[in-house]
Amino acid sequence: MGLDAKVESILLISDKDSIKTELKVFGSMVSKKCMSIFKSYIMSKLENCKYDTNNRLHVYGLLKENFELEEYLLVKSTSRYHLTKFRFALHMLPIERLRYAKPQVKRENRICTLCNQCIGDEFHILMECDHHTLKDLRSKYLSLCYAKMPVMCNMTPRGKFVTLLKGNHELIEYSGQFIAEINALFSSNK
Ligand SMILES: [Zn+2]
Repeated sequence: MGLDAKVESILLISDKDSIKTELKVFGSMVSKKCMSIFKSYIMSKLENCKYDTNNRLHVYGLLKENFELEEYLLVKSTSRYHLTKFRFALHMLPIERLRYAKPQVKRENRICTLCNQCIGDEFHILMECDHHTLKDLRSKYLSLCYAKMPVMCNMTPRGKFVTLLKGNHELIEYSGQFIAEINALFSSNK
């Protein structure tokens, strides 16, 4: 029964106790409907972020597939903290740090300060940058991930990037440490 039909049925009841019961059911229906609308609204906004590289939640939009609690949030580890902040673009990479420079630097000019070749965004830093320090870190942590999840070996760089940041409980220690080391590197390389 829809909400309108439910209202109609309540208006026809004359018994006081029956109305109380029906109003309780109606309240529950309204609550579920509101939550459903809210979830759809949030997910549609994130879907838009996925295609907007200038949006701060661009990476989060790529990672968030549903409204459910991410499994990595149940893991008691400092990696949970590092991963959560990174997913929300709370990091020291040029793509975000230069967003808040005065005057603000356009996205195309927020260049990686290690290689000076490409935009210093999350994908470039984690998966692409040729700087020797980043190559070493990437090699170290991806090797550990491959040992835990062999299927990752055959993924595209984009697939590895998403898998690393999704928060799989088997990988969270490695992705969290990888991110922490990258943040430390860019904190000392302003
Ligand atoms: Zn670079």
